[in-house]
Amino acid sequence: MRPRILMIYTGGTIGMIENPDTRALEPFDFDHLLDNVPKLKMLDFDIDSYQFEKPIDSSAMNPEHWGAISKVIGDNYDRYDGFVVLHGTDTMAYTASALSFMLEGLDKPVIITGSQLPIGEVRTDGEENLIAAIQVAAARNRDGSPKVREVAILFQNYLLRGNRSTKHSADDFDAFKSNNYPPLANIGLDITYNRDALRKDYSEKPLTLHYDMDTSVVYLELFPGMTKETVSHILNAPGLKGVVLKTFGAGNGPNVDWFLDALKEAISRGIVIVNVTQCPNGKVMPERYQTGLEMTRAGVVSGHDLTSEAAITKLMYLFGLGMSRDQVRRGMQVSLRGELTSD
Ligand code: ASP
Repeated sequence: MRPRILMIYTGGTIGMIENPDTRALEPFDFDHLLDNVPKLKMLDFDIDSYQFEKPIDSSAMNPEHWGAISKVIGDNYDRYDGFVVLHGTDTMAYTASALSFMLEGLDKPVIITGSQLPIGEVRTDGEENLIAAIQVAAARNRDGSPKVREVAILFQNYLLRGNRSTKHSADDFDAFKSNNYPPLANIGLDITYNRDALRKDYSEKPLTLHYDMDTSVVYLELFPGMTKETVSHILNAPGLKGVVLKTFGAGNGPNVDWFLDALKEAISRGIVIVNVTQCPNGKVMPERYQTGLEMTRAGVVSGHDLTSEAAITKLMYLFGLGMSRDQVRRGMQVSLRGELTSD
């Protein structure tokens, strides 16, 4: 049987063209995209496509869009062997993280890709990314099972676990990195899969979609000189439930009373505060320095080596499930979809 692939086009540079008046790139429609990749017809796969009514620049993505993408995957789950989501690069790592949580029990490939240059441009990276993404979505083991059974980002030379990825360059073709987890595959002359890194803990349960993402969350990114007023303003935002605290180095923050008191006070009001590092690479080790230890004592939860994209979408997901504060605190510290390494 020829593999059946559903391409879901959400927008992003890959399908954009230049507006002749403003010269700015704007989303165009999918027919244009297919016209520019005649090579797709050379693949021995059955490829169908789904286009959102209004393709968007991914900087406008929100949880409703994630829900819409999940629904298309859920509605077509039994009809296709794999899914390719075409998406802008700006928020691709957020969508990949969110989908990994929203699609519980996923057992088929969901490969997200896009490009830095529109597909109609001569030097585009979009054609290679798209074709490789389709090949990965169609790849099977000898026994017929899919090679990839998780949400992944394919960009340039790598296939990366979606909830471990971060956009690290605004202009390189090699735009994504997974700093705390090895690539799932190398995209070179061959596509070489890294069996040890690919997700293996499949559940027997059917795919379950979780649409409710609770957006009562915020980032609080520390910097030297941050004022008490700013911290207090953020922690007292109406309805706030969860905070991703982006700390220095191995999970450190200022060990001054006003700061620790502000954290304690917010935690006593039921807010969950998760410690992730501002460093692109490595994890928080909150007990390594006195400053980190004080935050742990104040009730801040370790986010281990979570990316900030995975941390904030995971908070949305856990609160969206209707979990209590203690359940969310526990859930943030264990791996649900391979998003973190706990010690
Ligand atoms: N602004 C674009 C987007 O994220 C950038 C891109 O696709 O690379 O939709």
